[in-house]
This record gives sequence, structure tokens and C-alpha cells, in this order.
Amino acid sequence: MNASPDLADAPRLAVVGAGPAGLFAADAILKKHPTALVDLIDQLPTPFGLARYGVAPDNLKMKSVLTTLTKILGRERLRFLGNVRYGSDVTWADLDRHYAGVIFATGAPATRSLGIPGEDLPGSEPAATLVSWYNGYPGHRHELPLGSVQEVAVIGAGNVALDVARLLVHDPDGLVHTDIPGDALELLSASEITDVHIIARRSPAFAKFSTAELREFDHIPNLDIRVRPEDFDFDSDAAEHLEANRNARLMVNLLKGWADAPPKETGRRVHFRFAERPTEIVGDERVAGIRLERRSGARSGETVLPVQMVLRSVGYRCVPLSELPFSAADGTVPHCAGRVTGFDGAAFVAGWAKRGPSGVIGTNKADAGETVDTLLKHLESRDVPHVGEDLLQVLRSRGCHVVSREDWTRIEALEMEVGAELGRDRVKVTELATLLAARHQPA
Ligand code: NAP
Repeated sequence: MNASPDLADAPRLAVVGAGPAGLFAADAILKKHPTALVDLIDQLPTPFGLARYGVAPDNLKMKSVLTTLTKILGRERLRFLGNVRYGSDVTWADLDRHYAGVIFATGAPATRSLGIPGEDLPGSEPAATLVSWYNGYPGHRHELPLGSVQEVAVIGAGNVALDVARLLVHDPDGLVHTDIPGDALELLSASEITDVHIIARRSPAFAKFSTAELREFDHIPNLDIRVRPEDFDFDSDAAEHLEANRNARLMVNLLKGWADAPPKETGRRVHFRFAERPTEIVGDERVAGIRLERRSGARSGETVLPVQMVLRSVGYRCVPLSELPFSAADGTVPHCAGRVTGFDGAAFVAGWAKRGPSGVIGTNKADAGETVDTLLKHLESRDVPHVGEDLLQVLRSRGCHVVSREDWTRIEALEMEVGAELGRDRVKVTELATLLAARHQPA
């Protein structure tokens, strides 16, 4: 950590999880405490979490947050310890011994299921699998069976549903200038998909789409956007919700505009279907359709949409962290203003592990700020405990291949090189072994 003499007594703090929540937490510590030293630990050899592996490659506006996160990663008094997994490479006892306080910002890595028959048929996947695949998450390279797919159902009315639907109907030429992995670009370029159906169980008034994300469909050339005018017959609940919620009104107006527009004769269509609940994924050996039930007055009834792929985009879920308490009721780590409760140790929580999988990347800034204030109050309230030897030495002695900030710059250089070979700016490296091998290359 290269502590200068005046930093000799500085508190050492750890943040587990190098996604936006973890980086914003590290940033807040460094800004608010004059001497604290921060170790940023992540199970992946790469930093940035969902900003690197969750934001769709064509969403350049959202990806621009990487510039901010890169600045934070480069701060003095911060060290990156990548490829270190909490629960196996390091335990709570290790962290407790080496740090005066630990913030867990480990996100919500699991996906929710629909709980309907047919969910396990080949061709039915969590949308997160597609997200990990087009974003090059290390180790997620099993080939997606897009080959014989013409129609896809995406279940859920959130921003992840919009992302995956948009990538599937995108003009592949429009993705060449992104960092999408080569194999994902090839498969999308060869795809025969003509129709993507986004299926929401409630009225458009309650969709969780952001208007900015919805608008992205307007930028895709030769795409017909189909919305059914009858989905806008609002009941009193929906009307009240719209009255009270400006963002929902803006979103609904955009959808209505598409509903009113004449259909375009194009090769690719995205369909928005509201107030339809999936009840079964049908098919013998693989997905052949999805059964939808509509309960909406005179329009009640059942339909089977003939799709060959179903992507379940109904939200993420947190998983219990080794040795820390977990609230099964709301799927988060129990806390009070960020301090983990019901636990005997200086453990704190930020981001989705703290509040559940909601909000956009920027939401994590204020959220992390609250946790850091609580952590700093905790430090003020006691003498900073003496912490043992440097965790890095311990990890190395255990044979753990820790990836440093300098190693990360080597990985970045490699991704630029791969990109240049393919005539692109940068292409993500997806193999874990290649990412780890880049540590040994000259910077
Ligand atoms: P989300 O926003 O929570 O949306 C989940 C959707 O699934 C909701 O429409 C929900 O409907 C529906 N759903 C849940 N259970 C269902 C079921 N059994 N059957 C049918 N539908 C069901 O989740 P998300 O899309 O995964 O996004 C997670 C977070 O990441 C959100 O905060 C999102 O804004 C953020 N995100 C942001 C961006 C961006 O800003 N570019 C991109 C991606 C993700 P109900 O409302 O009826 O429950």
C-alpha cells in the first residue's frame, strides 16, 4: 500500500465488490477521511462490476460512467485486489484481522424465476445469461442457441428486458464500434430473429422502463415498434398512478406515440404486450411457445405465442454472504444506515446487497455515502484497532493470483490490441485464463 510515514497509523478499510457501489463507497471514504487506506477486493480479475458486465454495449451514455469509475480506481490510498473471492480466498476472520471496517458491495448476482411449467426447457434462459454473454463476463461463453430462433419472448417490464430485446433486434453494424466480444457479434450478425415480444404482466402505467432506455429503440434503423392501442384503457389505479408520477407519464406517452404510428414494413419488429401473465412455457424438447393469460375485462383470454426462445427478465436477487446475516424476507443483508445488524463485527453494506436490486448506477452514490458516514462514525467512536500484517502478503502466501491495478492496465492494453487486430477500438477479453495471463505481460 506504500503508506508514507504519516499514514503509518491510518485505518485500513476494505470494500468487497468493485462495481459502481463499491467504487462509490471507496471514493467517499477517500474524500471524507484524510488518511484511510482502502483495499478494493473483487472476485473477478477486472474492476467495475455491472458497469462493465451489466450495461449493454450500445448504451454509450451509461457506459460513460466508466470514466468516473476509472478515476476513482486510480486514486491514491486505494489498492485493487482482483481475483480474490470472499468466502473462499478470504474469510470474515481474515478481513476482521486486517481491516478496521469492511463494506460489502457484492450486488445481487442471482436471478428470479417465474415458477411456471416449462421454465427449464432448452431455449428458456434468464435474461442475465444473455447480458453476461454479450458483455463478455468471464466464463459465460456457452453458446446461446440462437441458430433456429425467429421469435423471442422477453418476460418483464424493466430496463434489463429493454436491453436484451434491443440487442436482439439491433443492426449488428451498429455494434461494431462497441466492445462487444467477437463471438457475440458474430452470432448476433448471423441471427434470423424477426420478432421480439416484451411481455409485461401489468398495465403500461406500472412498467419499470426508463424513458431514456425506451427511446433507444427509436435509434435502431429499420425496426418496427408495435404497441397495442387497447393496452392504454387505464383502470382507476393506473390513472391515479399516472396522475402522481411524471416519469410514468413520460414513458406512457412515448409508448402511446408508437401505438398511434402506422406499422412499418421491415424485417425486424419489437412488440410490447401489456397486462399479460405467462402461465406456461410450452414445448416437448425445447421451447415452442409461451402461454399468456390476459385478465382485462372484455379482453380476457388466453394466447399461445409461437416463440422459440424465452428470456426471463423478472429481476435479480441477492444471495447470502458467507458468515453474514441475511434477511430472506427482503433478500438483503439486514443493516441500520449501512451497518450490518445482528452481527458482531465492523461489517457494512452498500448497493444492491443493502437495498435490493433497484435504481440506476447513479443511485449507488448517495447510498454508498450513507454507509461511509456510518463507517466513519464507527471509526471515530473508538481507537482504530491495530490490524495485522498486509492481507496481500497473506493471499500471496496462500498461492492466490491477486490482480493489481497495474495488472488491470495490462488487461486494458490487451483488449485494445485485440480490438486493433479486428479493426475495432477495443474488444473485451472473456477467457479467465487469458485475463490472468495478461498480468505477466509488460505494461
Ligand atoms: P426490474 O426493474 O425490477 O423489473 C422486473 C420486471 O419483472 C417488472 O416489470 C416486474 O413486474 C416483472 N416481474 C417480476 N416477477 C414477474 C413474474 N412472475 N411474471 C411476470 N413479470 C414479472 O428488474 P430489472 O429489469 O432486472 O432491472 C434491475 C435494476 O437494474 C433496475 O433498477 C433497473 O432500472 C436497473 N437497470 C438499469 C439500466 C439502465 O438504466 N440502463 C439497465 C439495466 C438495468 P411488476 O412491476 O409487476 O413486479
